[in-house]
Amino acid sequence: MKTEDQRLSREQVGSIVTMLRLTTDRELNCSECLQHVGEYAETRLAGKPLDEILAGIEQHLELCPECREEFLALQQILKAGL
Ligand SMILES: [Zn+2]
Repeated sequence: MKTEDQRLSREQVGSIVTMLRLTTDRELNCSECLQHVGEYAETRLAGKPLDEILAGIEQHLELCPECREEFLALQQILKAGL
């Protein structure tokens, strides 16, 4: 079987690249999330309003189980410290 035909057209590749770029622009990646997750946990515990970055963290936590676990662990530590 020939695999040549299954190659993506230039146009398809272009739209995939654009899509990926939009995704990385709009959503935080895990390392960015982990940089701010401590601040996020503290802000939540203090009942303060979330700024733009922290709102992004919240969104990422909903989508990313790994970071959520990190957040929950941090939250436990912070609560224990109060
Ligand atoms: Zn993540």
